[in-house]
Amino acid sequence: MPTPEQTAMKIKQNVGITPQGLYDKCTALANNLWWSWHPEVINMFRSLDPIRWRQLGHNPIALLREFTPERLELRAAELVLYTRIDQAYRRMQEYMNNRTAWAKRHVGVLGAKPVAYFSLEFGVHESVPIYSGGLGVLSGDHIKSASGLAVPLVAVGLFYDQGYFKQHLNTNGWQQEEYLDTMVEYLPLEPAVDQHGNKITVSIETRTGIIYANVRKMKVGRVDLYLLDTDLEANLPEDRELTARLYGGNNRTRIRQEIVSGIGGVRALRALGITPGVFHLNEGHNSFATLEAVRQMMRDDGKTFQDACVEVAQHTVFTTHTPVPAGHDRFDGSLIEEHLGPLRDQLGISHEHLMSLGRVDTGNMNEPFCMTVLGLKLSRYANAVASLHGYVSRKMWHCLWPDRSEEEVPIGHITNGVHIPSWMSWQMTTLFERHLQRDWSQESIDPTVWEGVTRIDPGEVWETHNALKNLLVAFVRRRISRQCRRRGEPDEIIDRARTVLDPQVLTIGFGRRFATYKRATLILSDLDRLARLCNDPERPVQFIFAGKAHPADNPGKEFIQTIANLRNDPRFANRFAFIEDYDINVCRHMVQGVDVWLNNPRRPLEASGTSGMKAVLNGALNLSILDGWWAEAYDGTNGFAIGNGTQHVDDPITDARDGESLFDLIENQVIPLYYDTDEHGLPVKWIRRMQNSISTLAWRFSAHRMVADYVLNAYMPAAGGVSCIMK
Ligand SMILES: *Cc1c(COP(=O)(O)O)cnc(C)c1O
Repeated sequence: MPTPEQTAMKIKQNVGITPQGLYDKCTALANNLWWSWHPEVINMFRSLDPIRWRQLGHNPIALLREFTPERLELRAAELVLYTRIDQAYRRMQEYMNNRTAWAKRHVGVLGAKPVAYFSLEFGVHESVPIYSGGLGVLSGDHIKSASGLAVPLVAVGLFYDQGYFKQHLNTNGWQQEEYLDTMVEYLPLEPAVDQHGNKITVSIETRTGIIYANVRKMKVGRVDLYLLDTDLEANLPEDRELTARLYGGNNRTRIRQEIVSGIGGVRALRALGITPGVFHLNEGHNSFATLEAVRQMMRDDGKTFQDACVEVAQHTVFTTHTPVPAGHDRFDGSLIEEHLGPLRDQLGISHEHLMSLGRVDTGNMNEPFCMTVLGLKLSRYANAVASLHGYVSRKMWHCLWPDRSEEEVPIGHITNGVHIPSWMSWQMTTLFERHLQRDWSQESIDPTVWEGVTRIDPGEVWETHNALKNLLVAFVRRRISRQCRRRGEPDEIIDRARTVLDPQVLTIGFGRRFATYKRATLILSDLDRLARLCNDPERPVQFIFAGKAHPADNPGKEFIQTIANLRNDPRFANRFAFIEDYDINVCRHMVQGVDVWLNNPRRPLEASGTSGMKAVLNGALNLSILDGWWAEAYDGTNGFAIGNGTQHVDDPITDARDGESLFDLIENQVIPLYYDTDEHGLPVKWIRRMQNSISTLAWRFSAHRMVADYVLNAYMPAAGGVSCIMK
């Protein structure tokens, strides 16, 4: 038998790779976020140095900087990694060059003129902190699936060098916000260059000066993500900070960010030689892009303002995400004039005319300029993000089409989905690979393929789930004890944190933004009843919470405090955990390990919700209000529904009813089903429900299905209009 080292040498000779060659392959892998949804590549990076991998926030570029090519080679030899690195590299090359992917067969007309997808945040991986929450993660999943399906698409956003805040709680459980400078050189960024290889800078003129931005490029599989950054010497100090933080600053900062990403984004694409056939505006933040497209069309084709508006709208897809009227960006006339004035001069329209594009009541001089209104007026294809949200949005924007009935308001819906390879654990993936059809892939949107999940042996499903649950409990203990250490708490508290929760106990997870309408504290509405449930000697339950409150949202922070401080109540100390700094990494651990995923927003304020879809992929059962995606997903056998899909006009009454329903469900359905085990200790009925959930929901709420819907119902018609935008 050859020793592992000899084998490694032999493989190495076969591969014929030098230390530098090996290092370059690893670097190439680290420089395309394709790696982030390939477990075999993640495991390869991790195994190079598991402790540093964790400490460096799962960032492979930072990890590789700690290796010389020689040391990397040594490590690869020890671990016999040559073939794994080589195979991963070749797989990525094949992926990048694959000409047979779905879109190649479906999207002829998009070929030369890609979709330009605009979003103010992108959540691709925890190591690239340019997202805050659901909207960003949705954008990230959208572009990953566009890559998977080979849809011709480029993405445009802002580069934030501080990103969103890091959350800590002080000893009183009060949220502290901290902004850290991102190590830019550790991100997979390169300068975006034009056809001649020159770096590009765009400028946006305002009445009070010019804002400059340069453009960076990030590779997300086959999709190029272009990020504008104003941290340039040419800018005034205040403008250099403009793109430092996501959702930082006041309304003036916000409009300046939005002209940079919307107007600057369209200019950047032109400078890059990219001619979009479709503009997809993800939320109203980027609606100014339409006005720049109109300007270019007027200049290039000599069209009138009116004609150019019609033409641009024909090529524009607008997605609204906000069922709360106050949640839409609105700017007053003076901010609009300061920032859009020079563009307006070129459009040849008056201030009031411009304002009217952002007003419902076009003649009302007191109405501010609403970005969603602009988006709706300058797009032919508008959609909400779930069926119920479509209904709510048509009601909300009926005012823009007063001559039509509510059902005829031209806002449809395409329900959100999640990128399965990013959210399904490799343990579940491996289980399905063993049991399902040979051509099973996580990416399949064919329902018949997923039916096979119901035929897998319940024992195996349970074993896989419990392995994941144990990993989650270990993660929570690690994080909670670290939190206590950071606060300088006594040793006995830190020690106790190392044993918090019990992997045998029914575990309910709640991870989301602490906006008050999400009612994180609903389950605390009857503490005595909750204490009885948590401490039942036979059938206890426990809870894991995580989530950030907006820095200005004190009621949201009070919710966090209430939950975090349950650790001081002996009835709950071991049954409640609050994990600080909810991000993609925390979310991934939670949705992969909990038994039940709880969602109890005040209906109908949750536009879609996507974390519950991530939970589905790993076999967690949703316990949710019939709002957002769950209103169309729940079929009586694939999870649990809180309430009956109605709400009272009076919030306190709704809250009381929903709280009662939540307790009833947990007490009378969830707990009995979970603890109803057969002679082998298996909760067979529960496992059946897990299998029903995965087989009925995984494909329907996948980002591949979502992107395919956008392609067929929005991008294709938008691209196939009479003539294409911007020659
Ligand atoms: C998926 C995700 C969200 C969105 O969750 P909702 O269910 O829509 O509230 C928010 N934050 C992070 C980090 C996520 O991964």
